[in-house]
Amino acid sequence: MCPKCGNEPESVDHMLFHCEQAVRVWLLSAFRFRPEEMQIARFEEVWNNLGQKGNKKEKWDVLHLFAIVCWNIWKARNAWVFRGVRMKETRICSIAAAEFHDFCNAVTVPQRD
Ligand SMILES: [Zn+2]
Repeated sequence: MCPKCGNEPESVDHMLFHCEQAVRVWLLSAFRFRPEEMQIARFEEVWNNLGQKGNKKEKWDVLHLFAIVCWNIWKARNAWVFRGVRMKETRICSIAAAEFHDFCNAVTVPQRD
């Protein structure tokens, strides 16, 4: 069973999309995914749908942000399971946004004048 909610067997889709806290994180994130969307979300479908929108750079940005939000939901799950620390959804989102900002800065080549 899911160690966070105890409502369903733990799976990738439950942990990332269906579990109560994950649903709130996605709603608060830049994606603004609605809770009713999240209840039926499957990782491969969401990934594939996001990878089809916009030009190449927009796709990369969206998929990088998506991966970083997923990573932070996973880290919040582990903080709860292994340390008993419950992270707030707003904190998970702000960490993800900061990590995305840092990632973009790290991979952007400065322009020469
Ligand atoms: Zn759960």
